[in-house]
Amino acid sequence: MESSLFKEASRRLENALKHAEVSEDTMEILKYPKSSIKASIPVRMDSGELRVFEGYRVRYNDNRGPGKGGIRFHPNVNLDEVTSLAFWMTFKCAVMDIPFGGAKGGITVDPKNLSRFELERLSRGYIDAIADMIGPDKDIPAPDVYTNAMIMGWMMDQYSIIKRKFSPAVITGKPISAGGSLGRNSATAMGAFFVLKKVLPDLKLKPGKTTVAIQGFGNAGSIIAELLHKDGFKVLAVSDSQGAIFSDKGLDIPSIKDHKEKSRKLEAMYCEGSVCSIDANHKTLTNEELLELDVDILFPAALENQITEKNADKIKARYIFEVANGPISPEADEILEKKGIQVFPDILVNAGGVTVSYFEWTQNRMGYYWSEEEVNDKLKHKMEKETGYIWNIAKEKSISLRTAAYVHALNRIDESVHTRGTKEYYIEK
Ligand code: NAD
Repeated sequence: MESSLFKEASRRLENALKHAEVSEDTMEILKYPKSSIKASIPVRMDSGELRVFEGYRVRYNDNRGPGKGGIRFHPNVNLDEVTSLAFWMTFKCAVMDIPFGGAKGGITVDPKNLSRFELERLSRGYIDAIADMIGPDKDIPAPDVYTNAMIMGWMMDQYSIIKRKFSPAVITGKPISAGGSLGRNSATAMGAFFVLKKVLPDLKLKPGKTTVAIQGFGNAGSIIAELLHKDGFKVLAVSDSQGAIFSDKGLDIPSIKDHKEKSRKLEAMYCEGSVCSIDANHKTLTNEELLELDVDILFPAALENQITEKNADKIKARYIFEVANGPISPEADEILEKKGIQVFPDILVNAGGVTVSYFEWTQNRMGYYWSEEEVNDKLKHKMEKETGYIWNIAKEKSISLRTAAYVHALNRIDESVHTRGTKEYYIEK
């Protein structure tokens, strides 16, 4: 495929292949998406007009199990982006040792310009278009940028109508009352937090003395901000698509989140009891300035390609935790490595979301539901275990944590390819 993001994603794989011993068959299989669909989705708008939207679903690989990956609603969604995200999902599921392959979907749309009725019709229309491709044993979607539990609920409902049976396990990230899992909403941020806490002693950092900046204040970004603030970290800056707010004394995250939920505006608030006002110490910054702040840890939690060769040299954080998918380009990776900035990669850091999605799918199939505490305990165990493996691989092989994560995933994918027979099995030397 002639495309930039996918080419960039593939470069990470090529790099990892130098450090992993995998069969030629595995390398060949992983070069291509298994299947891709581009659909035209007609939607009757509230005005009476008919508009046709473009939607995609890509199943990249299913050697380890059915496809798994979110659905994004964003004006920049295209086949290249969806394929790259499906590719990353393949490795993320293998990193976490959950029995899924990788997939992703999306619609090219700015959902902020649609009414709730239009959004529902579009969500249902998307499922009508891809219903044959998905299913609890085929490919299980979930939320991603600008999609949420309500949309997953509509989608599950539409799939159940098509199949004429209640099918909660077709999609994850659903509302709790429609078969969702407790803990799913916070899982991505919680997973990132567990990774950080596991390595904090190795990084010789202590929460009270550690400053952080977070790009993106959506599902993942706002919850990691809350978790860090509660644990005593100093959250100096947060941002959304409109810009960033900064305070060198640290922001009061609960009041900012509360204010943003009510007013949809990101403003630096400070509350004493129930009295809240704009924080007098705060400054506003651009998203570019936020990325370049002199903090201990930077959390990109918005979109891909935020740190590239254009700005990598200006990054001052000591560590970067990739909560977003693909926020750092391969060129920027090299620059950051030379500067001694350690990057904790997306396929580990944000894997909490897909891990609890796996728990949701499991609970749907059992028809038995766990408490939030049970879900979080299971998530903590998994995040810590896989972080430990990756940390050790990186140390043993003297490679970056990103390459180590890919090596770890590749070994698992390779094992599943081997069980089906490879050239080495058929052609004896
Ligand atoms: P979301 O839609 O809830 O939030 C996205 C946030 O990013 C919003 O605050 C938005 O205003 C902000 N944003 C958009 N453009 C921006 C820009 N140019 N600069 C700064 N901020 C900008 O999405 P989310 O679910 O929080 O996902 C964020 C990232 O995390 C994505 O890369 C997504 O793929 C990844 N991720 C999310 C999950 C999950 O479970 N939610 C799981 C794994 C990975």
